[in-house]
Amino acid sequence: MFLEAIPELWLRLDANRQWTLEKAKKFAGYIAPEFRQRIAFLEEPCQQPDDSLLFSAETGIAIAWDETVRDAGFEPAAQNGLSAIVIKPTWLVRLLMCVNW
Ligand SMILES: [Mg+2]
Repeated sequence: MFLEAIPELWLRLDANRQWTLEKAKKFAGYIAPEFRQRIAFLEEPCQQPDDSLLFSAETGIAIAWDETVRDAGFEPAAQNGLSAIVIKPTWLVRLLMCVNW
């Protein structure tokens, strides 16, 4: 509704890993395809990162990693549909302390 009413509006949204893939796709169903590109990203739509990537591939809505960054074994990499990685100041400070900067 906001995207349709305000043509210059861009949104950054956050689902905090609260949705199943099915529920995330239901959300996308409420957004007309021509407006989906004005969602700069949707952070962590699904409980599982692989489902979030699938969500992006199937809906054309870009995603961002937030919680996933703190998952064991996470390595930053370009992925289809991924448009941002959220880096919080506290996380950045910890990272800088680890590299003795
Ligand atoms: Mg977040």
